[in-house]
Amino acid sequence: MQKIPYKIYLTEEEIPKSWYNVRADMKTDHRPILNPKTLEPVTVEELSPVFCDELIKQELNDTDRYIAIPEGIRDFYKMYRPSPLVRAYCLEEALGTPAKIYYKYEGGNTSGSHKLNSAIAQAYYAKQQGLKGVTTETGAGQWGTALSMACGYFGLDLKVFMVKVSAEQKPYRKGVMETFGASVTLSPSDTTDIGRLMLKNHPESGGSLGNAISEAVETAVLNDGYKYVLGSVLNQVILHQTIIGQEARLAFEKIGDYPDVIIGCAGGGSNLGGLMLPFMADKLAGEKSPYFIAVEPASCPSLTRGKFAYDYCDTGMVTPLAKMYTLGATFIPPTNHAGGLRYHGMSPILSQLYHDGYIDEARAISQSEIFEAAVQFARHEGTLPAPESAHAIKAAIDEAIKCKETGEEKTILFCLSGTGYFDIGAYMKYNEGTLADLVPTDEDLERGFSAIPNINL
Ligand SMILES: *Cc1c(COP(=O)(O)O)cnc(C)c1O
Repeated sequence: MQKIPYKIYLTEEEIPKSWYNVRADMKTDHRPILNPKTLEPVTVEELSPVFCDELIKQELNDTDRYIAIPEGIRDFYKMYRPSPLVRAYCLEEALGTPAKIYYKYEGGNTSGSHKLNSAIAQAYYAKQQGLKGVTTETGAGQWGTALSMACGYFGLDLKVFMVKVSAEQKPYRKGVMETFGASVTLSPSDTTDIGRLMLKNHPESGGSLGNAISEAVETAVLNDGYKYVLGSVLNQVILHQTIIGQEARLAFEKIGDYPDVIIGCAGGGSNLGGLMLPFMADKLAGEKSPYFIAVEPASCPSLTRGKFAYDYCDTGMVTPLAKMYTLGATFIPPTNHAGGLRYHGMSPILSQLYHDGYIDEARAISQSEIFEAAVQFARHEGTLPAPESAHAIKAAIDEAIKCKETGEEKTILFCLSGTGYFDIGAYMKYNEGTLADLVPTDEDLERGFSAIPNINL
């Protein structure tokens, strides 16, 4: 029998021509996002001061299964896609497992993660609408970097609010964003009301993602020709990321296989949703039944320990309310080097699918176990993973070891969402043995839960 190659590539022509909108197939659609003042579903009119018109349509679309990818976006995709589906032969051998392990590698572009897939789409629609620019927030910096590339390509202005502690931890991220033409403001800043309030009440604050979101939204609303864009959680972002899973599904068709287990790390849910949902379509149709696993850090356990409730998406409580798994908008997770997973909430789409049992399992894993898996993977597969992605690696390794015990030849697929090149500081701490495992106590979580509004819908 001919051996399956290490890398299964698609042709440029085979890059998907549409995104998959799972909402059209979901048995219970997720609850609508609500205006916090009226508790009524938000309308297009209410969203339009903040978001781009076409993206609002995508956000609220629950009927069209497929949404065509404009040629202008596909042209950009062609520069770095299709991304390879890689068979982890060397890792399999090291583990001595009968399982077949595959990963879809999204870290091969300059921004270093899957986030570029949605950044380029959002920048395209902003340009189409004739805007001057967009505002956003960034934590660890992956989203800001991806968006700066996308805005640079279309000649759009970009104002990024970067969480202050992250900027101090990762000065090079700021450098990349500025190289692509973005202006980067450290958050909390004195350029917005919300930032000034934060600085007055907490002068020493290193900032948080929730606070940076509030600053970016305020700036978009107050500046003519600017809208706000977001890199995860929203339906539109999950939609754009389905390019990952569609490519993976086609590559599996080519080799005549189909994954039994599909794994992704879960911050706001976009890389997991992106990989998983095109396969979820088969599960919702009753045709296949892959086992889906979401992996989150033990320091920010929204699916495994959070509440399924209506909550704000930001600390400043200026955004609409979304029904999701949440730790509370005021919850500040302990320091963790997987900065992209430090968000209090979870995509409403993924939250509903998890609540209804279509996502089979969520796991929370400690930071030291994550780095152990990351190093093991790097040494055998020759790719340095982002700490976020290493959550998926850890679960894939654990599943492969289970197969070794049971003798099952399962096909395991996970998303290697990004590169670890910007995380060398964290790897150095791990190598020195100074990486801490901080897990919130039940009392810490209760404090976050107490800020969740009491809405029983
Ligand atoms: C941002 C990021 C994540 C987490 O975001 P999701 O929306 O949950 O995918 C995961 N991996 C990498 C490399 C990231 O940059």
